[in-house]
Amino acid sequence: MEQLAICGGKPVRENKIYYGRQCVDEDDVKAVSEVLTSDYITCGPKVAELEKKLAEYTGAKYAVAVSNGTAALHCACIAAGLGQGDEVIVTPLTFAASANCILYVGATPVFADINPETYNIDPKSIEEKITDKTRAVIAVDFTGQCVEHEAIRAICDKHDLIFIEDAAHAIGSAYNGKKVGSLADITCFSFHPVKTITCGEGGAVTTNSEEYYKKLVLAHTHGITHDEELMEDTPHEGPWVYEQISLGYNYRLTDFQAAMLLSQLQKLEGFKARRQAIVKKYDEAFSEIPEIIVQKEIPESDTCRHLYIIRLDLSKLNCSRRQFFDAMSAENVQCQIHYVPTYFFPYYRHLGYQGGLCPKAEEVYKGIMSIPLYPALTDEDTDDVIHAVKKIVKYYRK
Ligand SMILES: *Cc1c(COP(=O)(O)O)cnc(C)c1O
Repeated sequence: MEQLAICGGKPVRENKIYYGRQCVDEDDVKAVSEVLTSDYITCGPKVAELEKKLAEYTGAKYAVAVSNGTAALHCACIAAGLGQGDEVIVTPLTFAASANCILYVGATPVFADINPETYNIDPKSIEEKITDKTRAVIAVDFTGQCVEHEAIRAICDKHDLIFIEDAAHAIGSAYNGKKVGSLADITCFSFHPVKTITCGEGGAVTTNSEEYYKKLVLAHTHGITHDEELMEDTPHEGPWVYEQISLGYNYRLTDFQAAMLLSQLQKLEGFKARRQAIVKKYDEAFSEIPEIIVQKEIPESDTCRHLYIIRLDLSKLNCSRRQFFDAMSAENVQCQIHYVPTYFFPYYRHLGYQGGLCPKAEEVYKGIMSIPLYPALTDEDTDDVIHAVKKIVKYYRK
């Protein structure tokens, strides 16, 4: 048997690879530097062009570019009119921002459990958590796999709820042939460097509703408008006049970031193909290992996968997840855990949330680990990752 690197053996590779990494090339650099020496570095033509392209790409009527994915979620909650006394249903197996945005507007997050095979929010659990205070659902396309749109839409229609999609992982994914961004009432994207396309920090919100669109625009720029139709105090003094008509924030994206994203958007289909090829290779390799559980995909989802998660069947291994994680790290494959269930965090505990709320999410969480997945991974890199997993499983196998 091969000696594990953590026990002094030779690691499967010399240099470390990480679970995710941005893919930035000379085109992106050129796009950014052109804007930096132009007339506008923010609030210029590139943001408008990006919004148009994002709407075209996703098939949504409207897109608003914002400063990050968290701002996108906050704006979505504002546009949806959520506030004090409202309950919003969300998954706990996600980045903290998915639930934090509910708290930003004074509403109450209610956690629904996941499907333990797909790891996405379970429509049955959504239905169980509905009360007469429920106003919206924030469904996360976890790892990029589409949530069960048909079932969630039916529940939202039946109970008159607003369907917000946290698609931070899912730009490029499609459900029954329709791109994410055109499906829910409001969809939020993130362009952080670990996500599929990036501009450093960035985000976007898409919607088909003109009403939501207008509110999103106001929310991301101080609640200020230059649109005469929206102004209250007419006639006004002159062409310089603008009005603040609601309370908003500065969540604008800069023009050089928009330019970078426009450049990245052109490469999205290529990134998706490469990600899918790696996922297929991992799926094939790991489905032969009984100690490793592979994430299930629903057939409706054409997934542009953001994360590849292996789930350890710890009942078949003589190690803890921590030991497995450290052993992978010693082999120079740096993994990450996505995610600690949101309500485990002290802040949520202090708000009164307790363990046991979502038993399936808690159970899945115990064994999961994200392994490297990004377009620049070579076939040799992915072979190394598979080698490391197999080596460690073999060592700790019961
Ligand atoms: C990354 C992420 C966010 C937040 O996006 P930022 O751009 O980092 O603010 C929200 N939800 C999920 C599921 C994410 O992964």
